Amino acid sequence: MSRAYNFCAGPAALPIAVLERASAEMVDWRNKGLSLMEMSHRHKDVVEVCKKAELDLRELMNIPENYKVMFMQGGASSQFAMIPLNLANKSGKVDQIVTGQWSRKAHAEGKRFADVNLAATTADNNFTSAPAQADLNLSADADYVHYCPNETIGGVAFDYIPETGDVPLVADLSSAILSEPLDVSKFGMIYAGAQKNIGPAGLCVVIVREDLIGNAQAITPTMMDYKVCADADSMYNTPPTYSWYLSGLVFEWLKEQGGVEAIAEINRRKAKALYDFIDGNDFYANPVAVNNRSIMNVPFTLADSNLDKLFLQESEAAGLLNLAGHRSVGGMRASIYNAVPEQAVTALIEFMADFARRNG
Ligand code: PMP
Repeated sequence: MSRAYNFCAGPAALPIAVLERASAEMVDWRNKGLSLMEMSHRHKDVVEVCKKAELDLRELMNIPENYKVMFMQGGASSQFAMIPLNLANKSGKVDQIVTGQWSRKAHAEGKRFADVNLAATTADNNFTSAPAQADLNLSADADYVHYCPNETIGGVAFDYIPETGDVPLVADLSSAILSEPLDVSKFGMIYAGAQKNIGPAGLCVVIVREDLIGNAQAITPTMMDYKVCADADSMYNTPPTYSWYLSGLVFEWLKEQGGVEAIAEINRRKAKALYDFIDGNDFYANPVAVNNRSIMNVPFTLADSNLDKLFLQESEAAGLLNLAGHRSVGGMRASIYNAVPEQAVTALIEFMADFARRNG
């Protein structure tokens, strides 16, 4: 068996221990004589697996009791509509902060279902920084403020949690969930597509304060109503049980690693090593303001973009996969999520140094 190092932004690397366990359990799940993915989602053992995943996530993130945790479908992108449908229900006004492609998409979709104020954008500097608190043009009567703490494509992260007073703060944490400790009580809602730090694609984890649920706009489709989902423990219809189970295995793995604090330390070390290397080498560059550099997604460019193709060919041949930047921005990007081991970053830096020596 050979395992390459996978730097994909999502679907992303999964811990090898999780894949091996899932593989061992695949055909005959816990002596039941069938695979978990062939079992009814109403079977008590499946319900238990799903419940355990929720409890482990609650423990890992220290989620307060007055928050619902839901495992929804439709990816993080569907939340761009579900959030205004469910939460823009008092003044109908919302504030959105735009710092990259994902919060921009959320902003565009939000406008279809709410009266949206663009509270700040860093489009002017090509999304290479996050705005300061003082630059947020927030409305006192907004139903919520939406932002993306970690923009996956630009590799731009907030270095603070916006202060929004009594207005609930909603965060698209798709590419940063479980990467560092976070005070969930500062948020009205957090959501994250699973396919980066949680598990396989097919799920979106939604963590929402209970008092915000139950007042969806009348046009909200049943499947998009948080109350319907919460009341049915995320099983109003058939959920992607196998993705849910695998996410549960990832949560167990993360607990075995020492939890979020322990993995955060490794994550910071990995990111520092890569940024230090990029900054210390004229051949590579990262355009993001130093305070706003993501520890999960590290975009970088080569001094001569004519070498991009060769870089990608050679890195792939060296077992370093998926280093191409997002198709909308080009260049390179190394996504170094929880399941990407430190050795992968070391191997990447060694490759980059060697490539620069040969082509610089
Ligand atoms: N938000 C962010 C920050 C993302 O990185 C992504 C996916 N890369 C999305 C939203 C969209 O997620 P999905 O594909 O699950 O809809």
